[in-house]
Amino acid sequence: MLRSRAQKPCSVLGRSTRILVRCSDANPTERYVVEPASPPNDAGDEQLQPVASASLSQATCWTLSGMTLKELENFVSGMGEKPYRARQLYKWLYRPPVASQVDDMTDLGKLFREALASSARLHALSLREVREAQDGTRKLVYQVDGDSPGAVESVLIPASGRNTLCISSQLGCAMNCQFCFTGKMGLQRNLTAAEIVDQVTLTKARYESPRQASTQISNVVFMGMGEPFQNLDNVLRALEILLDPKAMGLSHRKVTVSTSGLVPEIRRYLRETSANLAVSLNATTNEVRNWIMPINRKYPLEVLLETLREEYARDARRGDKVFFEYVLLGGVNDSLDDAKRLLRLIAHIPCKVNLIPFNSHAGSEFRPSPLPQMEAFRQYLHERGVLVTLRRSRGDDKMAACGQLGNPGIGRTPPRMRVPDAFQKVLGTTPLQTRRSAGAQQGLSKH
Ligand code: SF4
Repeated sequence: MLRSRAQKPCSVLGRSTRILVRCSDANPTERYVVEPASPPNDAGDEQLQPVASASLSQATCWTLSGMTLKELENFVSGMGEKPYRARQLYKWLYRPPVASQVDDMTDLGKLFREALASSARLHALSLREVREAQDGTRKLVYQVDGDSPGAVESVLIPASGRNTLCISSQLGCAMNCQFCFTGKMGLQRNLTAAEIVDQVTLTKARYESPRQASTQISNVVFMGMGEPFQNLDNVLRALEILLDPKAMGLSHRKVTVSTSGLVPEIRRYLRETSANLAVSLNATTNEVRNWIMPINRKYPLEVLLETLREEYARDARRGDKVFFEYVLLGGVNDSLDDAKRLLRLIAHIPCKVNLIPFNSHAGSEFRPSPLPQMEAFRQYLHERGVLVTLRRSRGDDKMAACGQLGNPGIGRTPPRMRVPDAFQKVLGTTPLQTRRSAGAQQGLSKH
């Protein structure tokens, strides 16, 4: 007999939840145990915490997205089910057609579906808004649960021969890179593995058509909001799902995680996943990098680059290259002297350099580098054998371009860094103006 033990509101699903109890193995209709009970695995990890603030004495809602196959096996075993049920769930969560609700999973028994519906949800995010730029780039704004302010933003960038999805790993960012709009939000919180994975599964479900190869999302880059290596556990778990052929099955060569340069995490990342690494470099002297990327005060250029030299020499990384991202800021880091220094800095590191035009945003003191200057920078590197591209800016009319994600109005804006004397003139600021501007930014963030 299927016993209903309680009718409680589920704070995530927002409806009455029946908690079922496994009464007996003898009769297949007498299946499910009660007790929202103890967590179904002993991993002790974040994903298996209830997504709502429910204590164990309350109805518990699990988020299935973001769970690895092993975690799903533990989950179904906690419901008294066989491991093959986990494989079924795994497929429905990550392989097309992705289930959007429990009833879509038609090969699961009715009782199992009922039990799932009452104790779990499939996804952590829901799509709130899509903003399409003139060039076809789409900014996707995903709603998160609970009390977190803000939203998760991803960007889908179509191009001939490939579609790239740029995803976020945090709500906001703590790194305070001076040229970045997201950095002005400060850090709200880390995203869970479910929230990272959902950006891919839900975007694929919405935009991919099985009959049109041109709609397939071929590349995923972690270059949206946040410093992925400050949320490395969840990023690695998400990567496991993105790369697993039985889940999303993306090629490790088509998935790239970008960091501002956290050295210990770079070492860990290179040992624990085969996905690509990108390093946001953006300067060729410590003076400039200390200013525009404060993380450089902890891990200066020579430490960062020596780490990469060592790591890529260690196992030749399957022939991989590190991608250096370099945002060209007019008068700051775009001179031929910078190009010469960059050539020396990256010597003996297997790499590709991506030059990125700066995308302006309100309140920024930086300006884009002129096109001829950017082209001369690219040409200098190219002629000396560096693999280098000058990226085209995409989606900036909808604030969907690189460095334009987020909502700085919702948090406390971190202080602006002092502009080195040599650059005061370039930026048209004085030390006093820099301090005033920082104060104005902080005032803005409070409202
Ligand atoms: S560039 Fe990246 S690491 Fe730096 S503040 Fe922006 S999101 Fe954070």
